Amino acid sequence: MRAYETVIGLEVHVELSTKTKIFCGCPTTFGAEPNTQICPVCTGMPGALPVLNREVAEDAIAAGLALNCEITRVSRFDRKNYFYPDNPQNYQISQLYAPICRNGYLTVETESGPKRIGIHEIHMEEDAGKCIHDPSSGCTLVDYNRSGVPLLEIVSEPDMRSGEEAVAYLEKLRERLRYLGISDCRMQEGSMRADVNLSVRPAGSETLGTRTEMKNLNSFRSVLRAAANESARQIEILERGEAVVQESRRWDDERGESYSMRSKEDAQDYRYFPEPDLLPLRVDDAWIEAVRVRQPEFREEKTERFLREYEIPAYDVGILTSAKRLADLFEEASAICGKPKKVSNWLMTETMRLCREKGVDPEDLAFSAEHLAALVELADAGEINSTVAKQVFLRVFEEDADPVRIVKEEGLRTVSDRGELSTAVESMIRENPKPVQDYLNGKKKAIGFLVGQVMRAMQGRADPEAVREEIARRLG
Ligand code: ADP
Ligand code: MG
Ligand code: ZN
Repeated sequence: MRAYETVIGLEVHVELSTKTKIFCGCPTTFGAEPNTQICPVCTGMPGALPVLNREVAEDAIAAGLALNCEITRVSRFDRKNYFYPDNPQNYQISQLYAPICRNGYLTVETESGPKRIGIHEIHMEEDAGKCIHDPSSGCTLVDYNRSGVPLLEIVSEPDMRSGEEAVAYLEKLRERLRYLGISDCRMQEGSMRADVNLSVRPAGSETLGTRTEMKNLNSFRSVLRAAANESARQIEILERGEAVVQESRRWDDERGESYSMRSKEDAQDYRYFPEPDLLPLRVDDAWIEAVRVRQPEFREEKTERFLREYEIPAYDVGILTSAKRLADLFEEASAICGKPKKVSNWLMTETMRLCREKGVDPEDLAFSAEHLAALVELADAGEINSTVAKQVFLRVFEEDADPVRIVKEEGLRTVSDRGELSTAVESMIRENPKPVQDYLNGKKKAIGFLVGQVMRAMQGRADPEAVREEIARRLG
């Protein structure tokens, strides 16, 4: 078999988190009752006129700057015509001829080092409604709440050479857009969706092979699997001496294979034409500058600054900057308690562990920096021991509870009072004659059990080291 090279270009749709839709004032809240967030504009009533939401243009410019694009000074909207029940106007307002951003790039980490992936363009468009098949009535119902929700479509150059590179690009893209705060980019909920265009060619060849397109992949994992599967499928076709058909294919994640949706012969003709109801969008230098000064510190710069300003290892910084929310919590809590490494430890270990266990995205962490700092201070001052600290942290994590209040109200402070400690040790010795005898007979390991008994009797409020010493002292 000859050696082949895989070529991938991605079209990524990202739902913006603006409060209102792109061409009307309807709210965009996710998960509302069907058809409660609609008006004549977003349901395509005759005569209703669209008005561009300024925030959408601003988010698009911000995304363009974050992805090193040129911003188009006079950009225009176009109608993409097609019939489908979730599309009440029978056209989608999009941008074909003069998209708002062009010629950008994103640098991603790959196996062979950093690599630039070109961004062909970013355009603004409206989302469609949603068809819901209702099995009880056998009918298909339509919910137009999503109709008119603003989307950015980010089109890459065919610069990726494997599914892994495609995922690295998607991760970097998501990171940038989340740092910008313009989209929550949740693939599972559909606020970030990727179309994978893929072709193969003999290694060393300069011309592109015929590609297929797999639409709406909704996880990094399915991008990876779909790319590997499609690449193998195309290589097999070429090896048989046949030709790849340019077509859209649907990836079935459960079966782990794709199947053809439509071929070139009946390819859609969208009959694009300029949108007559919207004026061209003019973007001047002042506007671009205004957006530029509001750009956030992105991960790369934040990483450098953290390494410079805090005495924490590069490993910590890598985790802390993986989500903007984590980085913000770290900085705020460190400023309050002055113990960056301790704060970092809580975020890297317990926080990340609970995020994994409870399926919480670190970007959605809901507790406050004040409460995290308070916990760090209590634990660091030895007011609570590490077991209690973990229990209290769980409450901070889950309900943003105030650690100082919980420790006080629930009497969780470590008992440093010698008297109370020795009374507890005394009763433990009385109640556990057998293990105590074992210990006295030289089975030194039994002390672990004895310490545990005292800790339990004191509801974890003792310092285990102090307990150990007291037992050792009493039993000689
Ligand atoms: P269309 O207008 O049909 O969507 P485009 O030329 O805009 O096609 O390309 C769409 C996406 O497909 C882009 O991300 C581009 O990089 C990618 N692409 C184009 N040709 C190929 C190819 N031969 N192999 C892999 N990806 C490709
Ligand atoms: Mg396309
Ligand atoms: Zn509306």
